Amino acid sequence: MKAGSSAKRISPTPSAAHSAPAKRRTKTSSQGKKYEAIRRDLERQRKAMLEEAVEGLANPNGQEAFPDISDQASAEVEQNFSMRIREREQRLIKKIDEALERMDQNIYGICERCEEEIPYPRLKARPVTTLCINCKTLEEQEEKVRR
Ligand SMILES: [Zn+2]
Repeated sequence: MKAGSSAKRISPTPSAAHSAPAKRRTKTSSQGKKYEAIRRDLERQRKAMLEEAVEGLANPNGQEAFPDISDQASAEVEQNFSMRIREREQRLIKKIDEALERMDQNIYGICERCEEEIPYPRLKARPVTTLCINCKTLEEQEEKVRR
């Protein structure tokens, strides 16, 4: 039996191969991705509402009058004719804007009252909401009491 070429040395490397504990933190890091679908919905809705508003004005060719305002509308133009949008629509558009803003600030989907994360299905159904169901219910109850 020749001594020498025996077994390869298996150096026990620190177990990097060990599967790292799969801790998942769904904090605020990738909100853009998480709410991408909702953002698209909001932007689409916003655009549709603005176009509708234009049509609703005393301008039969409303849409032609404002070719593709959505993308690069100056704030001025927007402001001008949002003044003529019915109040209710205006309020909703404002809510949409605020929701989009919250996405930019990575605070979208956080309940304003209890600061819990609002469940995705609720956001999908009511993307402009700023309250979780519980807080919304509470708020409604409070409003009733106040009357
Ligand atoms: Zn809440």
